[in-house]
Amino acid sequence: MTAADPTARPALFHGPIDLHLHSNRSDGTEDPAVVVERAAEAGLGTLSLTDHDTTIGWVEAAAAASERGLTFIPGMELSSKDGWRSVHVLAYLFDPDDPDLAAETARIRDDRIGRAERIVRNIGRDYPLTWADVLAQTDPGATIGRPHIADALVARGIAADRGEAFDGILHPRQGYYEGHYASDPLTAIELVVAAGGVPVIAHPAGRERMTDAMIARLIDAGLGGFEIDHRENTAEGRAWLHRIAAEHDLIVTGSSDYHGAGKPNRPGENTTAPEMLQRIIDRGSGSAPIYPARSR
Ligand code: AMP
Ligand code: MN
Ligand code: MN
Ligand code: MN
Repeated sequence: MTAADPTARPALFHGPIDLHLHSNRSDGTEDPAVVVERAAEAGLGTLSLTDHDTTIGWVEAAAAASERGLTFIPGMELSSKDGWRSVHVLAYLFDPDDPDLAAETARIRDDRIGRAERIVRNIGRDYPLTWADVLAQTDPGATIGRPHIADALVARGIAADRGEAFDGILHPRQGYYEGHYASDPLTAIELVVAAGGVPVIAHPAGRERMTDAMIARLIDAGLGGFEIDHRENTAEGRAWLHRIAAEHDLIVTGSSDYHGAGKPNRPGENTTAPEMLQRIIDRGSGSAPIYPARSR
């Protein structure tokens, strides 16, 4: 018979666990409370709202989660770029008031506005699309991005859905694309760690993949882990990530990347193991999970 480990604490959260969902505070299509509702309907016990470059959805999502008996993990998907490659850094349990990280996200959100205007001006030379069309698709205060331009193209009847817009007019090769400000991934990781957060690279084995050399530098800077179970990671890419994670004892997660009606991704289509969430909780010191007011 094995004795119970006296140091083991009972987990305060319930599964299944999905640590990557978006609301209309960035490029999802639903209010944070509705995202929580969809997560509950999918049978999830724990979720993280990870809007791009913003934490403004946290309060509403945390209240809704508490009400529905779900655990809420404060999160964000921070934009960064390695040359032309965009690198998304999921950040968990950081301090939302950390001045350096807050200044970085404010700068990204602000620069995204001028960038979106430039893209719309470029498209407007060839298609009947205006900035007002895009604003009509964007929640006030939301982090604006190409998905909102996609929605405006759909509303105008120029594209059938977001996917068609991204494959066509919004694709960089079409010539309308403009980039936005973001730090390099190393700086992004350092900012998250300094804010008490746990950085996890989102969908690292999708179309745009970092080099092994860059990943080694990120690990040295305090990278927490990889989001491996994500629909955009290739099978071969997942094996590559598992090898690196095992070698460096990194956290591995699985998530949906839910965007409401903006993507086919469904809440809970991939999930994170409880022991991996426990490692994130043990390591994060800038904010705390919000446990439900009542259990389900
Ligand atoms: P941006 O950060 O403004 O360049 O836009 C990138 C965002 O667009 C990502 O966060 C994705 O959620 C979204 N996106 C990328 N490709 C697609 C697609 N094919 N369909 C729907 N959304 C997409
Ligand atoms: Mn997105
Ligand atoms: Mn992403
Ligand atoms: Mn995402």
